[in-house]
Amino acid sequence: MKNSIIKKIAKEENISYSSLIKKIQEGKVVIVKNKKRKVKPLAIGEGLRVKINTNIGASPLNPEIGDEIKKLKVAEEAGTDSVMDLSIGENIKKIRKLVLKNSSVIVGTVPIYEAAVRAEKKYGSFEKMKYTDILEVIEEQAEQGVDFFTIHAGVTKDIIKNKELKNRKGGIVSRGGAIISRWIIVNDKENPLFEYFEEILEIAKKYEVVLSLGDGLRPGAIADSLDFFQVAELLNLGKLVQRARKKGVGVIVEGPGHVPINQIEANIRLEKEICKQAPFYVLGPLVTDIALGFDHISSAIGASLASLYGADFLCVVTPKEHLGHPGVEDIKQGVISARIAAHSVDLIRNSKTRRADDIISFFRKRREWDKQIDSTIYPEEAKKIMKRLKLSNVCTMCGKYCSLKIMEKCPLI
Ligand code: SF4
Repeated sequence: MKNSIIKKIAKEENISYSSLIKKIQEGKVVIVKNKKRKVKPLAIGEGLRVKINTNIGASPLNPEIGDEIKKLKVAEEAGTDSVMDLSIGENIKKIRKLVLKNSSVIVGTVPIYEAAVRAEKKYGSFEKMKYTDILEVIEEQAEQGVDFFTIHAGVTKDIIKNKELKNRKGGIVSRGGAIISRWIIVNDKENPLFEYFEEILEIAKKYEVVLSLGDGLRPGAIADSLDFFQVAELLNLGKLVQRARKKGVGVIVEGPGHVPINQIEANIRLEKEICKQAPFYVLGPLVTDIALGFDHISSAIGASLASLYGADFLCVVTPKEHLGHPGVEDIKQGVISARIAAHSVDLIRNSKTRRADDIISFFRKRREWDKQIDSTIYPEEAKKIMKRLKLSNVCTMCGKYCSLKIMEKCPLI
């Protein structure tokens, strides 16, 4: 990565150049960008602004490109820092090409999805997939310009063969984790992503792709948080982080999942300790299982606490989570929720970010509505909601008893 780019990132992140360089060298910060792609690089990690990722992509039941580019644009407008194209089904390659072409932010994928779909076509079942099929997809996607890959290399045979798996309340909820686990059990072989990790590193290094070590066994229920499967996989991920760093490949680690609020801090500390301070990418965490239709709220609560304790990268959860394929409006709501969660921590991490809150407070006290609304995270929503009394500069909440106005007239102030 060029020095001028690192200097620019340091300026944007409000940290010194030398401190950023040190964090990159230690693996605490990674800069994500495929060398074949013309996109603004994204820095993720310790002491930087908390970044957010939005998942888009076609589903097997909606295999066409449909609204995916609209979702990409809405996510960008609402402030996402990256998107992952999680398309699975027909047209994966075509959709990814369009996403890469239209995205102004970095793009990630989960290559095992395409490998599984191709194997279904080639052999009639993804269970017959060969390691060469997987490596071929990884290389093709890297060549196409994908900036980061989720690789579920930590799901190993010894973990999956543990009989306790059937007693898990939430089972395996990661799509990639389930594909790999079933492949391991049916073939009675080691996870090819684990066995051929060295070959994957070679490809990642060649194209400067960052690896996001997937948590295929993350808890999908509050009851499974910090169970044997989650922790055993995390121990594997810790070793894989070291191997990636030795090879000079940027690496981040994915985390839960569903986590009771009092275990969030422990989750972050564990990951940072076991994975030697690698940037932590959390998928939520959702703090309760009961919020169907409102999981973006459950996730925002978990995400803000996770960021406070040191998570660096948040995955957007939409109101459709656990219910269906998200639409454009779901994506918008999800991104805004995650953005608020990230900002709530950024404003205490970084005085530059805090300025946005001070500006809005300034205009709020003076009831300068337009300026207040224009300074907010998503002004359109505020504009829609606000119906103020036209003749006085108070809102409909307190009318003439507006506390701000009452005190403004107070002779002692
Ligand atoms: S009317 Fe009440 S809610 Fe509205 S700005 Fe004044 S104090 Fe705030």
